[in-house]
Amino acid sequence: TETLLDVRHVNVDYLAGSGAVHAVRDVSFQLKRGEIMGLAGESGSGKSTLAFAIARLLRPPAEIIGGQVLYYPDAARTGQFTSLMQKVKLKDASHQAKNATEIVPEDGINVFGLTPTQLRLFRWNELSVVFQSAMNALNPVMNIGKQIMDVLAAHQPEKSAKERHERAQDLLKMVGIAPDRLSSYPHELSGGMRQRVTIAIALALQPDLIIMDEPTTALDVVVQREILDLISSLCKETGTALIFITHDLSLLLELVDRVAVMYAGKLIEVAGRNAFYQHPRHPYSYGLMHSFPTLHGPRIKMIGIPGTPPDLRNVPAGCPFAQRCPMAFDACRKIVPELRTIVADIPEQVAACHLYDPTIIGSRNIPQPAD
Ligand code: SF4
Ligand code: MG
Repeated sequence: TETLLDVRHVNVDYLAGSGAVHAVRDVSFQLKRGEIMGLAGESGSGKSTLAFAIARLLRPPAEIIGGQVLYYPDAARTGQFTSLMQKVKLKDASHQAKNATEIVPEDGINVFGLTPTQLRLFRWNELSVVFQSAMNALNPVMNIGKQIMDVLAAHQPEKSAKERHERAQDLLKMVGIAPDRLSSYPHELSGGMRQRVTIAIALALQPDLIIMDEPTTALDVVVQREILDLISSLCKETGTALIFITHDLSLLLELVDRVAVMYAGKLIEVAGRNAFYQHPRHPYSYGLMHSFPTLHGPRIKMIGIPGTPPDLRNVPAGCPFAQRCPMAFDACRKIVPELRTIVADIPEQVAACHLYDPTIIGSRNIPQPAD
């Protein structure tokens, strides 16, 4: 199978005293092996929460309340990995896997059903996450070489100390840092270099998927661009799939294969980078794109559209964008639009908007000019 990750109808709530905040609402998408996808959305749109759900990193009060994430290990490694998973499953027999009753294809892994031990194997060997705060999570009193080698030692105990040292040097070289920096401490490195070290650590065990939650404020824009440039070219080289999360759409349009846009906890458009650039279809995407002066000009944050997203404690009926949408019509406030293909020859571009639903648009009340 070409599919690496199959996210199906995932829902995440934050359980607050005054009622649940529906942070991720019925999100489904698929990621191909080696594909680089940008996940964009303004802050609070649910993009980080979705990524944390996929990696099973959510902590209370966040809770996965529905859906499934299926992961397909590389066929060449499937046997090895699944037998490892089988072994730890027996060890974890007391653990009652969530969603255990859901049907999982034989060659797939049900991520929400992994036991804690399986999850640990899965995380480093198959999926790595680079957090927004990762560069501050480096241990300040340990040199970076030791931090990289510790990861290697924990997960590849069969390797010798010499092999681990060489691998750590290679990893630093990959991210553009001189190997003699292994003995540097985090405070001796710039923010951009610390971020590169976290990328080196994420790549250490050659996972098939990396999720990177872009630092929003910690790094200046030039450095952020360099980091995405670096991680996307490393992923291309190594065939690693990447989900890069950002609030900055203009950054993605230059460097990813596919763009996914979230709004109010939902995916509202998913498209190939070129299709999205040439013709964004959802009115929200369209508004964002047209708030850019030029693609290569100053970077515009996702604030170009008047109004604010709805309160996710009390989600309004119909389309979540209806209050801000210049195109809204009566059905928009009643019926939730689903992602659908817009034009037959670009089936992979989907948008959740009634304007593209012939059955709904046909019954639209078009205001007639008075005369
Ligand atoms: Fe606008 Fe209606 Fe489309 Fe929502 S469904 S984006 S409100 S036109
Ligand atoms: Mg975030």
